[in-house]
Amino acid sequence: MLASSLRISTVFRANGPIKNKSFAALYVSARNYAGGGDTDLVVIGSGPGGYVAAIKAAQLGLKTVCVERNPTFGGTCLNVGCIPSKSLLNNSHLYHMASGKDLASRGIEFTDVKLNLDKMMDQKRGAVKALTAGIAGLFKKNGITSIQGFGRISGPNEVTVTKDDGTQEKVSTKNILIAVGSEVTPFPGIEVDEKQIVSSTGALELEAVPEHLVLIGAGVIGVELGSVWQRLGAKVTCVEFLGHVGGMGIDMEISKTFQRTLSKQGLKFKLNTKVVSATRDGSKIKVSVEGVKDGKKEDIDCDTVLVCVGRRPYTQDIGLETVGLQLDGKGRVPVNSRFQTSVPSIYAIGDCIDGPMLAHKAEDEGIICVEGICGGAVHIDYNCVPSVIYTHPEVAWVGKTEEMLKEEGIEYKVGSFPLAANSRAKCNNDTDGLVKILSDKKTDRMLGAHIIASCAGELINEAALAMEYGASCEDVARVCHAHPTVSEAFREANVAAYFGKPINF
Ligand SMILES: Cc1cc2nc3c(=O)[nH]c(=O)nc-3n(C[C@H](O)[C@H](O)[C@H](O)COP(=O)(O)OP(=O)(O)OC[C@H]3O[C@@H](n4cnc5c(N)ncnc54)[C@H](O)[C@@H]3O)c2cc1C
Repeated sequence: MLASSLRISTVFRANGPIKNKSFAALYVSARNYAGGGDTDLVVIGSGPGGYVAAIKAAQLGLKTVCVERNPTFGGTCLNVGCIPSKSLLNNSHLYHMASGKDLASRGIEFTDVKLNLDKMMDQKRGAVKALTAGIAGLFKKNGITSIQGFGRISGPNEVTVTKDDGTQEKVSTKNILIAVGSEVTPFPGIEVDEKQIVSSTGALELEAVPEHLVLIGAGVIGVELGSVWQRLGAKVTCVEFLGHVGGMGIDMEISKTFQRTLSKQGLKFKLNTKVVSATRDGSKIKVSVEGVKDGKKEDIDCDTVLVCVGRRPYTQDIGLETVGLQLDGKGRVPVNSRFQTSVPSIYAIGDCIDGPMLAHKAEDEGIICVEGICGGAVHIDYNCVPSVIYTHPEVAWVGKTEEMLKEEGIEYKVGSFPLAANSRAKCNNDTDGLVKILSDKKTDRMLGAHIIASCAGELINEAALAMEYGASCEDVARVCHAHPTVSEAFREANVAAYFGKPINF
């Protein structure tokens, strides 16, 4: 499977730089569906899926147009998602270290630590501005035409863009790529005003630290944003319908350990509990909840509510009916393994199709979809797409959980290594966490990696690489890892999985 993608990249390299006209022409002539005007591809949406696809298409020689309804490029990820949330997570962590006992315990003493929330928000806006402007620069560099406005499909080879001033522009094109992403899922009966009752977007822009923030949903986005405000001084209560934190796909042992860590930090959890209503009373809100199992009712008083029960595809009113395309039951655009809809000239990727709603998944789909349009092989192994929760410590995983392996009847081995036994984590006084590796009992092939560590989001990429190459745990264990690094804990967990015993624990 990897071989096919390797083959494409080898061909690219063997043919020299993409600027080479004859190579570009080769690929353009190889595209599947001729028709339309002299534009080869119109991408609707400039999120991580759309903008990366547009750049790749231009690099492969396709005449590319990207339509974006927002004034800035970058979609959810850069404007109201990954980037602003990670800025606040990083800076709130530094504030928490300085204002609590952490830095003092390291011999760094302060008096009078103050939070300047406006400045923290400015720093976040600066990161967003620089990165969204960076996409504009990349579009220019790669010769991509951008059109600001709402794109609608008006035929198999035509997109009509409605601009803010109401004027319309029609673009004829050989291929169309739908990359319209997703929006916040509303909670029935609870109206979001983005001030007192907020979605993730409002939670990134609060003007003051709430006294008591209630989260509806303790999935990835909930615990990340809950952590931000808890570190800045809010009391935070997370109400979660499911019996665990961290959303779908997390290994249950990891979820329990993670919940314990967050509870130690001060977050409160009400699991197996559903929110029934949230009623405003002046500056206060009463959140009524009910136990899922025992039906026990309770009211929680707070001043801010964060509704974070997930995201849904943003696929309404984009003209699918004009070409006879229908959404699936969850509002997603159905596609085949080449990301092609039932109209051969129209493709879709990212949050608006099936699969995990993650920026890197959208990016990878964008790249291989465009390579496919140019005649290349199309392959993605969703089992090797990592997930990360950027709290402190971070939580990251890739591949199968123990629960999945049991359900699939696969015999497996577990290799674990605690961060408390890792020299670098000890030096850094940052020992919360563990690495847990799951391997095939017969073949030793790595089947899953689950990590809680301050840098789990970086470590997990080594696991993803190993799994993409079908590595065994012994393969990883025999790779020399620099000392002292937290990566050595990853190696040790692989030693434990294949040999039964790690060295340092
Ligand atoms: C708070 C938060 C934190 C997150 N953190 C992470 C994280 O750390 N890591 C991670 O991997 N993922 C994270 N995500 C998820 C990530 O942002 C999405 O998975 C990713 O942005 C999806 O990319 P996309 O290109 O499919 O869609 P989007 O990023 O949603 O982009 C779609 C774009 O299309 C535009 N558009 C829509 N319709 C039209 C139209 N008709 N015409 C023109 N333009 C249109 C939209 O304006 C938007 O710019 C986070 C999300 C949130 C909300």
